[in-house]
Amino acid sequence: MLEAIGAALAGVHFGVPLAYYWRARGWLRRGWGIREDGGYAPRVTVVIPTYNEAENIARRLDNVYQQDYPRDKLEVIVVDSASTDGTADIAERWARQHPDLKVVVLREEKREGKAKSLNRALRLASGDVVVIADADALWAPDALRRAVAKLADPSVGAVSCVKKPLAAYGIEDGYRGYYNVLRVAESKAWSTPIFHGELAAFRREALEAVGGFPTDIGADDSHTATLIALRGLRAIVADDVACGEAVPRRGYHAWRIRRAQHLLQHFWKVLTRPKTPRQFKAILYTEAYLHVVNPWLLPAAVALLLTSALTGSIPAAALLGIGAVMTAYKPYRTWMAAQIYLIAAAVRNLWTKEIVWQKHDKSNGHGAEDPAIKASAPTPRGAEP
Ligand code: GDP
Ligand code: MN
Repeated sequence: MLEAIGAALAGVHFGVPLAYYWRARGWLRRGWGIREDGGYAPRVTVVIPTYNEAENIARRLDNVYQQDYPRDKLEVIVVDSASTDGTADIAERWARQHPDLKVVVLREEKREGKAKSLNRALRLASGDVVVIADADALWAPDALRRAVAKLADPSVGAVSCVKKPLAAYGIEDGYRGYYNVLRVAESKAWSTPIFHGELAAFRREALEAVGGFPTDIGADDSHTATLIALRGLRAIVADDVACGEAVPRRGYHAWRIRRAQHLLQHFWKVLTRPKTPRQFKAILYTEAYLHVVNPWLLPAAVALLLTSALTGSIPAAALLGIGAVMTAYKPYRTWMAAQIYLIAAAVRNLWTKEIVWQKHDKSNGHGAEDPAIKASAPTPRGAEP
């Protein structure tokens, strides 16, 4: 009996994401259903939130400067939360050296989290489009232009990028391949509930309509995009908008757990919303299930199977054996790691929300000559979960 329940739980744990992934692959073949306009060039405000980003900020500003978007339509706001490493000074010096780009450096007196800073910048932004650009990220040279072109369609409220790690780091590679496929597929089907702060472009009115960025949870980018989708505009991750992110070498696990905490906070909060547009229901509820509930089926299944195996069940022992052998297969290991991060994150959320988080050392996590970010339109690679 126990072994049957254990096997069923394991079946659901692996079956639901596999079925969803299979269905999403089908969505990938669809068109976007978006009327893009390459000639659409609204005023754009790029917001770079910083806390101790001295080693990244100049490179980040260079990367914005090198975008193939009309520079006179561009405004950059660096909003710095009392960095102690001179980030704001470096940004100001950079601004003086580049008088042909409007750069405003906002200095906050104390650090109260990224979302508060973003809201402060939003109040000052003059653009019709507001784009979040994390300091430790880079964009492909055409990323901004391609993202903005999609916002020319009035049905689109927010656009984000497909992510590539800035340095190869085993697990993160596989993780990105699989999740990029899902993000793009969901976006083609209608909208995705997961956005990336590395490049998150919002139609300004849509942003204001949802009250700016939420300050009570960590995933400000995903949550804001999802609120916009809940109001009926599309929130998409576009496959021709590429960004790279620095991945920490040290403290990698803590980093993944903190980000998982933020995602869980986001899904918890979204699930309390009264109305979901029809096209968004399957996507939002499946993703919420996959993040909040599905991970827990794994330890439950293992516990039941282990109990049965120890009391002599051959099938239970066989299933556990298969599970152990499968760890030779990298996508499986990647999947298992993600489940463990989500479970640890749920537990950790009980005592800390990590709204103001520790900065991770990413000093070896990127190289300026990263090839991935030079390619304008990477196709997301598929990997089984
Ligand atoms: P991760 O991408 O989720 O690992 O988060 P990061 O640590 O890279 O932070 C994302 C962006 O937000 C970076 O540009 C940070 O410098 C910035 N950031 C983090 N905390 C704060 C904060 O308290 N205030 C401001 N203004 N920016 C912050
Ligand atoms: Mn980051």
